[in-house]
Amino acid sequence: MTKLNEADKKQGSPGSAANPRNVIILGSGCAGLTAAIYAARANLKPLLVDGHEAGGQLSLTTDVENFPGFPEGIQGPELIERMRKQAARFDTEYLTGEARSVDLSKRPFRLTINSHGDLYTRTLIIATGASARMLGLPSEKSLLGRGVSTCATCDGFFFRGKEIVVVGGGDSAMEEANFLTKFADKVTIVHRRDTFRASKIMQDRTLKNRKIVVAWDSVVEEVVGTDKVSAVRLKNLKTGRVSEIKVEGVFVAIGHTPNTKIFEGQIDRDKAGYIVTREGSRTSVRGVFAAGDCQDHVYRQAVTAAGSGCMAAMDAERFLEAEGH
Ligand code: NAP
Repeated sequence: MTKLNEADKKQGSPGSAANPRNVIILGSGCAGLTAAIYAARANLKPLLVDGHEAGGQLSLTTDVENFPGFPEGIQGPELIERMRKQAARFDTEYLTGEARSVDLSKRPFRLTINSHGDLYTRTLIIATGASARMLGLPSEKSLLGRGVSTCATCDGFFFRGKEIVVVGGGDSAMEEANFLTKFADKVTIVHRRDTFRASKIMQDRTLKNRKIVVAWDSVVEEVVGTDKVSAVRLKNLKTGRVSEIKVEGVFVAIGHTPNTKIFEGQIDRDKAGYIVTREGSRTSVRGVFAAGDCQDHVYRQAVTAAGSGCMAAMDAERFLEAEGH
């Protein structure tokens, strides 16, 4: 693990203004680590800054059964650890810290990293991910990966023949609920109002699905269970009535927040805050590339994040080459 001290940051050392890095990658999830593997193998000696949630969302999952190459499945944290080792094998340097601010107005770009000070780089790969919005209950946090999930595509398979709850009233909740009926016997959507926010077509599909019932005007007060989820306690906001339903899974689908706030005003983002990419991984700033969930609210899979990390590293390499580095 790289530890930068004052001597390291002296003029001329890698990452100083006089001797910028070729590439710095922000984020240590699937996208960032894949970008590191490709950048390192292109001899760019990347520096990867871990970020606030080291390992990204995969490190919060248990079984991963849809990442190609692991026919028996693999634990999320182990998959991340393998990627870290693979990137390290080709001389990726890791820095534990988080970018506090960035200056993308001129090259080399300046990054201010928590407790490490300023670093300069010719290209930047943003792979800061997105965080699933959570309800904020302590029981939800302690049972995450033990029946509580934020990704139906990842975890739906484990709920074959079971009863589950999906929280939310947007398109994500509709999509997850419909997808989950392929596995579950019954899906209860818990929504805090009496109308859905989702598009009409998604609502219709959901309400026609015989395996889905809706608990309107309701919120989850508590996820019940010690080692795994056994029930949820619901409160009806109109009547005040509290009830408990037995379920083995709780899918929280109340939206995601991309971790892109520090780029506000410097790079094009859509209205939800996702970084806008074009022609592969290019952003609105030349020399800055984006990969993974910070720029993708559609697919959000480990394998698509990895693919876009590869694209970002290749785009950065080509950019550096065109600039004569
Ligand atoms: P969203 O549209 O923001 O919906 C979030 C839902 O969660 C809302 O119904 C909201 O309730 C509820 N919610 C938010 N915070 C909550 C809380 N603390 N407790 C309980 N409920 C809470 O998010 P999304 O569904 O993830 O969709 C995001 C964007 O992606 C949308 O533009 C959507 O159209 C798009 N999308 C499209 C598709 C598709 O077309 N196939 C699929 C997925 C997503 P309220 O309604 O009361 O605010």
